[in-house]
Amino acid sequence: MTAPGPIVPQPGILEIAPYVPGKSKLDDAGPIIKLSSNETPLGPSPAAIEAFKIASGRLERYPDGSASELREAIGQAYGLNPERIVCGAGSDELLSLLAAAYLGPGDEAIYTEHGFLVYKIAIQTNGATPVVAPERDCQANADIIIDAVTDRTKAVFLANPNNPTGTYMSFDNVRRLRQAMPGHALLILDAAYAEYVKRNDYEAGIELVATTDNTVMTRTFSKVFGLASLRLGWAYCPEAVADVLNRIRGPFNVSEPAIAAGVAAIKDKSHMERAVAHNSEWLAWLTTEIEKLGLRVTPSVANFLLVHFPKQGGRTAADADLFLCDRRIVLRRLEAYGLPGALRLTVGTAEENKAVLAALGDFMAATGAGDQ
Ligand SMILES: *Cc1c(COP(=O)(O)O)cnc(C)c1O
Repeated sequence: MTAPGPIVPQPGILEIAPYVPGKSKLDDAGPIIKLSSNETPLGPSPAAIEAFKIASGRLERYPDGSASELREAIGQAYGLNPERIVCGAGSDELLSLLAAAYLGPGDEAIYTEHGFLVYKIAIQTNGATPVVAPERDCQANADIIIDAVTDRTKAVFLANPNNPTGTYMSFDNVRRLRQAMPGHALLILDAAYAEYVKRNDYEAGIELVATTDNTVMTRTFSKVFGLASLRLGWAYCPEAVADVLNRIRGPFNVSEPAIAAGVAAIKDKSHMERAVAHNSEWLAWLTTEIEKLGLRVTPSVANFLLVHFPKQGGRTAADADLFLCDRRIVLRRLEAYGLPGALRLTVGTAEENKAVLAALGDFMAATGAGDQ
């Protein structure tokens, strides 16, 4: 018998701030308008739900560990080589695996000021040093990121478009960033919201992955495809990176119901197009109407937007959150993202969007005339 003693995690682990998701309920269990997690108001394709139900008839079987059918379907949909696609339990898992494979103590990894919080957790989990590149006006800037690169930089995580800001970096700038980074540093382009973007100067990452050997693009079924609950994402990688991820991932990291639903979802192009069209219409409407209330909105290309509130006068973001929760409308608080003065609003159904606008109007009226 050895002496009893405390078990101790690896250095740095206890410095990690756990990820706190957007609220999904209020104090009671009653219904809410949940616009806090960037989920699609249209839900998944009916074909995906049907495929999920069929797969539920064989839950005793292990899934296909290589998710071949899904990688083929993704390859078909986007014109990619399935051999270079790796699937994961959400893109979160792939981001963690990339960090585990390429980061360790002494290495630095960069993300931007208001970047997705999962990056910091993945970096710290592996004992590497997180380096924050400031943004300008809630916008990631290639030159500022390039300035943060050192000899120790092993990875740059860039959400494009970014959550929670909704802003994006043009393809020219992403390419310039890649060219300025050292060859041994991985550029991880997290394109969770790519399908929503309607800009000619945007490219999700396919072209850079195809033309460099040190860029990875991650994608998800959680957002426009409406399968967040199933945990399904994928990465498009250089061959050598796909090989590395396939060595360290769990052998059955993606479930069969998720594979089946994912295949059906990606084949139902018209459902996806409906979701994108709905979003384009209501994103523009919400932006215009909220600005008319005297609130500043960061221009977004995704399925959510950042609403900025005054610093005082009973009209802060925290005040607005309380007011909205009172009406059972839940947005995302952003203190953890360094944006205490803003709330993130996910585009919802027509009724939800109208309800949130009406509530914001009442909030502004109740707390003083548009004197921001
Ligand atoms: C929602 C989101 C994801 C998706 O995560 P999953 O694990 O695939 O659900 C990834 N990156 C960003 C920036 C996101 O907002």
